[in-house]
Amino acid sequence: MSTEALRIVWIYPDLLSTYGDRGNLLILARRAADRGIPVETYEIRSDQRMPNGADIYLIGGGEDGPQALAAQRLLADGGLHQAVARGASVLSICAGYQLLGHSFYAKGAKCAGLGLLDISSDRGETRAVGELRGDIDPRLGLPPLTGFENHGGRTHVGQHAAPLARVTGGIGNDGQTEGAWAGKILGTYSHGPALARNPAIADLLLRWSTGADRLAPLDDSWTEQLRNERLTAASPARPV
Ligand code: GLN
Repeated sequence: MSTEALRIVWIYPDLLSTYGDRGNLLILARRAADRGIPVETYEIRSDQRMPNGADIYLIGGGEDGPQALAAQRLLADGGLHQAVARGASVLSICAGYQLLGHSFYAKGAKCAGLGLLDISSDRGETRAVGELRGDIDPRLGLPPLTGFENHGGRTHVGQHAAPLARVTGGIGNDGQTEGAWAGKILGTYSHGPALARNPAIADLLLRWSTGADRLAPLDDSWTEQLRNERLTAASPARPV
């Protein structure tokens, strides 16, 4: 890994890649390159050592079996823990979000998570499937979240993390809040892929990892059209 370029790792694409998670990697790399920031991307499969020296780590969604296996391997590897301790940023989606917490359920069994985010997940009575929308924690200064959710888990956010958003459509964590964040770790139930529908989150990750206060604006008019369409399509929040 070179030290000059922004290093982005996509964690375990062989296990966690539902609903176009590769798109998050492509969008981050593209939005960095468009600002003249040199980028190196790495796809680290589950039989490889997890490098601890990258700047941004992406971990995606998945079914219960691959999710449990990914958690076991990341716990045994330790590289992601070292990277977070060094100050790396993390974007985690759905299964990847749940497994960053203390525990989650997969195929009816309680599984140990990585403990990197103060959340824990159990199962809901129904699957949460459909459009997801929320107002993001104002401290992050981002426009509303839009995404697509499909998960059986429900997530409780502990004292050492904050919800990423207040739900205005869909379920998210529990029908009230959606996702979580602490330090430079973000978690969300939003697929889509999330960064295609929320490029402001990509720019937040780029700012965190480069230390830049602001980034040159890009032409996001197509994205804005998509966002407006999806935000309008989201159904109102319904009971869990
Ligand atoms: N297996 C998890 C659940 O159903 C996560 C699903 C996903 O990543 N879409 O809750």
